[in-house]
Amino acid sequence: MSNNHLVVNSAIAQGLDVIGDRWSLLILRDAFLGRRRFEEFRRYTGASKATLTRRLAALIEQGLMIKRSISPLSKRHEYLLSAKGAALFPASLLAWQWEQKWLADASTSLPDTLIHRGCQQAISPQAVCGGCEQTFSLDEIRLSPIAVQGIQHIEEIKSLSGQRRVRSPLVSETADTRLAGISDLIGDRWTLLILISAFFGMQRYDAFAKQLNIASNILSSRLNLLVDNGVLQRRSYQDSPPRHEYPLTAKGLSLFPIVIAMRQWAVEWEADATAVAGLLHSSCGALLSIKVKCGSCAEIIDRQDIDYVSRADNRK
Ligand SMILES: [Zn+2]
Ligand SMILES: [Zn+2]
Repeated sequence: MSNNHLVVNSAIAQGLDVIGDRWSLLILRDAFLGRRRFEEFRRYTGASKATLTRRLAALIEQGLMIKRSISPLSKRHEYLLSAKGAALFPASLLAWQWEQKWLADASTSLPDTLIHRGCQQAISPQAVCGGCEQTFSLDEIRLSPIAVQGIQHIEEIKSLSGQRRVRSPLVSETADTRLAGISDLIGDRWTLLILISAFFGMQRYDAFAKQLNIASNILSSRLNLLVDNGVLQRRSYQDSPPRHEYPLTAKGLSLFPIVIAMRQWAVEWEADATAVAGLLHSSCGALLSIKVKCGSCAEIIDRQDIDYVSRADNRK
């Protein structure tokens, strides 16, 4: 597959900006886990009061969450997912699984057990193609013929990245950075673009620099972040002058379904994102959409099909 045909356009990138903030992702994750109260979000995300207030307001403004009174007479509020927010469920479930699998600290800091109501087993989510409901590997994914505007899309994204909203630094104002693993990795436009380029075969520093037209200090810092987190490897392919390439690790490759699920969400919910290139699952010929299957009973999992068992509940 050609490296030029990247599958993000500016509308999608804007959609990802909505959720591509580490705090927003953490809040959404907690909402999927059944948490509704301000104090619960505070406790589990580790966000400061001010940060949480800002991010909840942004999520409400962007239509992902709804704020309502707990009862008609109460001044207290709870925060619920809207339909748009709920549509992030597959991505969120896969992100939860990824963190469980790949982050050493996740088992102590992440919730809980998810139980599939259908089979009463603890859920081990499997990303599958929505067309054939089978698992897929990266080499079965092709670009659809309308995908050729890739370069143009990159140009749009680059021009947008200058106008990004103020975002929190990668690690700040938190007591518990362990929780932020996945959002640190994909919650930044440049990191996301590097990852997508890597999914489609790009490896060399010079190739990233040229394709993404990215400032070398930004490219270096993002590559370092990805290497430090075990998502990319760094290896030398030339001594003089020294040159490096950055192949994906297994951990990095396993981010693919999550990135695709988020992209899919952005395409569905961002008004301008309709005309974008699709990905084909070559085995069945369907446009790739991600569904999530229960690893035990192989049924497709919906949000309503899940029970949450927290550690606190277990101890009672
Ligand atoms: Zn398929
Ligand atoms: Zn099941």
